[in-house]
Amino acid sequence: MKIDFHVHTGYSICSNMKPAEAVRAAEQAGLDAIALINHDLKPVKFKGSKKVKVIHGVEVTTKEGHLLVINTNKSFPKKTPAQEVINNVEKDALVIIPHPFDLFRKGLSKKLKSLTSYHAVEVNGRCLLPSFNDKARAFAKEKGKPLTGGSDAHFTGEVGNAYTIVNARSIKGAIKKVKQGKTKVFIRERPVTNRLKYFFKSIGLEAASFLRQS
Ligand SMILES: [Zn+2]
Ligand SMILES: [Zn+2]
Repeated sequence: MKIDFHVHTGYSICSNMKPAEAVRAAEQAGLDAIALINHDLKPVKFKGSKKVKVIHGVEVTTKEGHLLVINTNKSFPKKTPAQEVINNVEKDALVIIPHPFDLFRKGLSKKLKSLTSYHAVEVNGRCLLPSFNDKARAFAKEKGKPLTGGSDAHFTGEVGNAYTIVNARSIKGAIKKVKQGKTKVFIRERPVTNRLKYFFKSIGLEAASFLRQS
């Protein structure tokens, strides 16, 4: 299965993608499943399509940085310590450390060394510099943790820019494979101009949202 474990939707202000659009983009990218992620909200239920299964998750803004909790029904208050979130997820949930060394986003880099019991480290399709992902790969190797791929897509053109490959036929089976460390990661090479385009698109949406509120 090809699974993109990190796809945002317009329930967060930094994206305007509808769940149905994300699923369609995933079909076009040849994916078998995607995790629909919102920042700090309870997972929003949305069924997938015939071709693309949907898993629900949340990107928690912990006290120390972002943490992905997938296959969960929970949400956590912002600023909860990362280890406390990890300790309180459901047994079937998957905890991934997203973009840990990305200097432009809230990676967990400083706290990373002391965290335990999470399942995987992410290779992120949205990192502006490939070196951020190189560091994540080296860190995962050092800790003996598997890698997962996630596009961190906020717009349809980004879905599937990174994904995880596992030998499984169901979401449950795929999560099991990740926990067993049996993953491969795909990341699409893109020119920096393409990465910058989407980076600024999100910032634009956030700025527009702030202006509407003020
Ligand atoms: Zn993040
Ligand atoms: Zn994200």
